[in-house]
Amino acid sequence: MIPNPLLDVGPLTFKGIEPGSPVIIAGPCSAETEQQTLDAARALSAMGVKVFRAGIWKPRTMPGGFEGVGDRGLSWLQTVKDETGMAVATEVATVDHVRAALDKGIDILWVGARTSANPFAIQDIADALRGHDEVTVLVKNPVNPDLDLWLGALQRIHGAGIRRLGAIHRGFSSAGAHIYRNDPQWHIPFELRRLAPGMTILCDPSHIGGKREYVEPLSQIALDMVFDGLMIESHCDPDNALSDSAQQVTPAALEEILKRLVVRSGTPVDDELALLRQQIDDCDHELLAVLARRMSVSREIGRFKKAHNLRVVQPARYQDMIDARLDEGNHLGLQCDFTQRVMQAIHEESVRQQLDLFND
Ligand code: PEP
Ligand code: MN
Repeated sequence: MIPNPLLDVGPLTFKGIEPGSPVIIAGPCSAETEQQTLDAARALSAMGVKVFRAGIWKPRTMPGGFEGVGDRGLSWLQTVKDETGMAVATEVATVDHVRAALDKGIDILWVGARTSANPFAIQDIADALRGHDEVTVLVKNPVNPDLDLWLGALQRIHGAGIRRLGAIHRGFSSAGAHIYRNDPQWHIPFELRRLAPGMTILCDPSHIGGKREYVEPLSQIALDMVFDGLMIESHCDPDNALSDSAQQVTPAALEEILKRLVVRSGTPVDDELALLRQQIDDCDHELLAVLARRMSVSREIGRFKKAHNLRVVQPARYQDMIDARLDEGNHLGLQCDFTQRVMQAIHEESVRQQLDLFND
C-alpha cells in the first residue's frame, strides 16, 4: 500500500470564519476591471463573506475568449484585501503566475481543473511554492474523473511543504447529455474525504451546475454531504460578465441563498441512526455475498464457454439481461440510470473473470 501523506493535513482556518462552520469563498469568475472587482468585493464583504475569489489568468477553451486581465489584476486584489480585510484568492497555472501572486501577497492560490490534470504543470507549480508555507493552496479536481490524478496533484503540492492545503470539487467533463455543465460523480470526492479525513474539501456548485439556478440546490446537497464549504461565483452584473456569465449570481442573490442553506451540525450519536446504519451494513454484507456468488456462477459459465469454444461476450444475451434488469429495477423504484451503471459494472467484472479463465 502506498503511504498516504495527506493524512496529516488538517482543516483550513480563515480569519473571521468559526472553525467548523462552512468556508464560503465568493467572487467573480474573472476580475474584469478594477471597479467591477471592487464592487463585487464590497458587496460580498458587507454581507459577511470573508474570502474573495477572482480569476485574473483565465484558462479559456478556445482562443479569442476572455483570457483574463493578467498581472495588473493582482493590485486590484491587493486593494480588496486592504480595503475589506477579506483574504483573496486567484487561480495559478504557471510558475510565473505563482511567483507574481506570492510577490503580491495573494493569500490563497487555487489550481484549476485543466492544470491539475497535468502532472508536469503541477510539479512546476509545487516547486515554485516550496518555502512559501504561509500560502493556502486549493487544488480543483482534474477535468477528467480520475481520483489518482487529483490525489497526485495534492501530494505534489504537499511534497513542497504546503500544509495549508485543500481541495475543490468542481465536477468532471463528460460526454453525453447531462443537466449539469460538469458531472459531479460524487463518489470521487467521497473517496478523497476517506483518504484525507482532516483536509478541507470545498464544493464549487457554480462550475458543476453551469447555470445560476443550480447554485442553491447543489450548495445544499454539498453541505449535506462531505464538504466543508463552497466556492461560488458572484458578479454584480452576471449577464454581462466576460466569463461564465450563465452561472454567476449577484451578491444579493448569494446572500439570500446563503441565508436559506441549512447547515447540519448534529453529531451522529443517535441510537436511531446507529440502528439504521446497522441495517445498511447488513444490506451491504448481503450484497457482497450475492456478488461473490454471482461471480462464482459466472466463472462456471466461463468454463463452459471455453470448453465449447464460445466467445465470452454474447451481445444478444447481454442486451436481454440489461433490458430485463432495467425493467425489474424500475418496478422496485430504482432509477434506470443507476440500475444500468450497477449492472454494467457487474457484467464488466464477470467478463474480466471469464477472460482470466480463458487465458489460464
Ligand atoms: C474558475 O474557477 O473560474 C475556473 C476556471 O474553474 P475550473 O478550473 O474549475 O474550470
Ligand atoms: Mn468560472
